[in-house]
Amino acid sequence: MIGDGGYLIELERRGYVDSGSGREKVGTGRGSGQFTPEVAIENPDALRELHREFLNAGSQVLQALTFFGTREKLNRAGYGADTERINFEAVKLAKQVARDESERHAEVFREAFAKEGMNHPLQVNRALIAGSVSRTQLTEREGMASLDKSRDHIAEQIRLLKDAGVDFLILETFFHLAEMKVALECAAAAGLPAVATMSFRPLITKCTDGHTPAECAKVMADLGAVAVGANCEQDPQRMLPLLREMRAATKVPLAAQPAAFRTTEACHSFTRLPAFPDDLETIQISRNEFVEFGKAARREGIGYIGGCCGCNAAYIRALARGIKESSQDQ
Ligand SMILES: [Zn+2]
Repeated sequence: MIGDGGYLIELERRGYVDSGSGREKVGTGRGSGQFTPEVAIENPDALRELHREFLNAGSQVLQALTFFGTREKLNRAGYGADTERINFEAVKLAKQVARDESERHAEVFREAFAKEGMNHPLQVNRALIAGSVSRTQLTEREGMASLDKSRDHIAEQIRLLKDAGVDFLILETFFHLAEMKVALECAAAAGLPAVATMSFRPLITKCTDGHTPAECAKVMADLGAVAVGANCEQDPQRMLPLLREMRAATKVPLAAQPAAFRTTEACHSFTRLPAFPDDLETIQISRNEFVEFGKAARREGIGYIGGCCGCNAAYIRALARGIKESSQDQ
């Protein structure tokens, strides 16, 4: 399954998302409103266009831009009162694009077949829509005692996403396994399938509350995740060792959505590097590394593969090419 790429960094580059830079220290997890998804209601056309780009690059899933869309995080950005509207509009918009583009593709096929005097027999599949749910940042700000508050916020967002009609959830960019467990319990309570991906920083050896990738994979699978893995923070090459650890620890499909930024031996996390958030162009990796990652997916047992921050449609096109080339080699 080919996922999509990163929305917030790309839309920040296009001028539609606030990074918080210049106002506060970004990347601490304690900031006010950086990288929140109000673009869904303020500049819906910009978001629609990026969805279209990912679809046409080969994405089979569109993530509704509901990342950092809990009331807790939106409150700090001044959008708390819009929590319902942002989550609902983001899902509606992704669904619209998926429907319109699949109809457009079907029309192209129909015309091509008609020219040859044939009826078009193909069913053009519509992309699935995933609701993105991430950490509340309460754990970073207030510690583990805040997990019950996180539970209320995550449960609320998942209810909103379910009502808006997502096909499944992607629980992503969680730093603490404890908060991921809360999110998986909320997803199960709502009856929605969930892909679960942790983010590891500053090193890939342990998540913030001290669990190895193997432990995370096992716990997430035991809590019912349909696929487990990692997203964000590292480039594909840097992420691979942790994915292998997860692969060895569980039988459920693996999911990987790495960043398109180069990290260092000392710091495996681009949000902890001085280039974040205003000099990211200096650590951008080439799309060819996503061709290679696509080629490696089958060999490494990664069933769900996409990108995160820094990964625009060119990278998804590269990924799709890598996957295609590797299946032709077989
Ligand atoms: Zn990311």
